[in-house]
Amino acid sequence: MRRWNGWGDEATVVELPANGAAFLAERIGEGQPLPDASLEQVLARVPASRLDAHPLISLDAETRVRHARGQSLPDWLAMREGDFGQFPDGVAFPETPEQIRQLLALAVERDLVVIPYGGGTSVAGHINPQASARPVLTLSLERMSRLLELDEESQIATFGPGASGPQVESQLRARGYTLGHFPQSWELSTLGGWVASRSSGQQSLRYGRIEQLFAGGTLETFTGSMELPTFPASAAGPDLRELVLGSEGRFGVISEVRVRVTRLAERESFYAVFLPSWSQALKGIRSLAQARVPLSMLRLSNAIETETQLALAGHPGQIALLKKYLALRGAGAGKCMLTFGVTGNRAQNAASLKQAKRLLKGFGGVFTGTLLGKKWEHNRFRFPYLRHALWSAGYVVDTLETATDWVNVDSLLGKIESSLRNGLKDEGERVHVFTHLSHVYGEGSSIYTTYVYRPGGSYAEALARWSKLKHAASDVIAQNRGTISHQHGVGRDHAPWLPVEKGPLGMAALRTLAVHFDPEGRLAPGVLLED
Ligand SMILES: Cc1cc2nc3c(=O)[nH]c(=O)nc-3n(C[C@H](O)[C@H](O)[C@H](O)COP(=O)(O)OP(=O)(O)OC[C@H]3O[C@@H](n4cnc5c(N)ncnc54)[C@H](O)[C@@H]3O)c2cc1C
Repeated sequence: MRRWNGWGDEATVVELPANGAAFLAERIGEGQPLPDASLEQVLARVPASRLDAHPLISLDAETRVRHARGQSLPDWLAMREGDFGQFPDGVAFPETPEQIRQLLALAVERDLVVIPYGGGTSVAGHINPQASARPVLTLSLERMSRLLELDEESQIATFGPGASGPQVESQLRARGYTLGHFPQSWELSTLGGWVASRSSGQQSLRYGRIEQLFAGGTLETFTGSMELPTFPASAAGPDLRELVLGSEGRFGVISEVRVRVTRLAERESFYAVFLPSWSQALKGIRSLAQARVPLSMLRLSNAIETETQLALAGHPGQIALLKKYLALRGAGAGKCMLTFGVTGNRAQNAASLKQAKRLLKGFGGVFTGTLLGKKWEHNRFRFPYLRHALWSAGYVVDTLETATDWVNVDSLLGKIESSLRNGLKDEGERVHVFTHLSHVYGEGSSIYTTYVYRPGGSYAEALARWSKLKHAASDVIAQNRGTISHQHGVGRDHAPWLPVEKGPLGMAALRTLAVHFDPEGRLAPGVLLED
């Protein structure tokens, strides 16, 4: 069963290795565990619903708790403390586009606010109800998860918007296809959520981001249904799919999604290479991207992330041997791990591997085969569970991300890390910070930074520290030509920084669109566009 106050399935537990806790204690001090609230305590705080009974709507307190918060750090702290803030007044579970339309009509009739809800994996405050004089209806798409049609000739699949990653892949794989979209939240996030928040999967290098995969579909709005037909390409004016991509529930509810799918590849392998320094590693990954070497995944960890990953990998004996070997081959202190994937048939993969090895060798790369690549593959959806282990050990972990042009990557990365590393200095606290690049393009790269800090003595302190760090890093991103989000979207947490990159005219255009589709401001108020 899905956890009500954290990530994933209750049955999955990922432990922090003993040397991992020691590693963190040495860097930022002993952990400071905080007490967790129980579900019973939270249920006792759920107020009576302001909605009338309706066949499509659940007013059950636990259902309302389970749809009140996403997965951002403030969400995590609220759930752990048991202080949720607002709960939706009810959760609707439509099964067809027609039922979505009925629920939107009900919202007009009863003066409701509506929050579209996919998998609730938002990390930017997208789906949290706010205090409102109008009752809040959360609209979960989880019962609309079926593969409705597979056009094998055009390789286009039509899905209900609530299909989660495993539901998308299992239905496609049964027919020999894949979507190839694997965000780290794949286990719980949904197709509609990916489109609505412009998601990027770990293998975007081969399959493309959701923007490339989203071929068309239907948006239900307060002013009618908008059909987006599929075309391989079109010069017929602005592409209306762009109004749906990144709309974050503000313009309407996506009721059907058509995606471009690919035949399952014959084989796939992941490898690790160590580069002797960050500057060599950066040149290496940029060359791979710009030479268009046909890899399916690339992830370059900076030196601190490499060190942290090796420390948290467990097996200290084997890791010590590996480090010794790498040092002998020229990748000692300051080394950076680059993981890459090849996906295709035997001949394609052999050619890609050869090209990548040869190119990386020119930058001092030491190839270590598939062992660490297999480990990455095994853990690729298990990393989010580590937040539980760190929390129990008394540490708070969060991530943030951006993207910028190559010419700016190193400088922006350094500034983000330093804003976080020094962010709690006035309190005498250290912050452990590390970064990787995992979505690379010819012209630039995403930057994905993780930071670990101690919560202090209370939940209020833990949240205040987060707020200080998040604001400092977001300011740095916005002032230094980074986008406020490469893949997590805007939600409420990033909305204050959106005008910096969209400009006044751009913001006005977005607001006009929101009013066009939702004249009474019922859909997810405050998300994407601040109130
Ligand atoms: C541990 C973890 C790892 C993550 N890793 C990645 C990653 O690798 N790549 C990445 O891109 N993101 C990642 N995310 C962020 C998150 O998973 C994505 O933003 C994802 O796209 C959200 O999908 P969801 O179905 O959970 O949407 P939700 O969180 O339910 O909703 C997100 C937004 O989309 C809207 N929405 C959802 N469904 C619909 C619909 N049918 N119609 C209209 N609006 C809708 C909501 O109203 C909301 O504004 C991660 C999150 C976590 C917690």
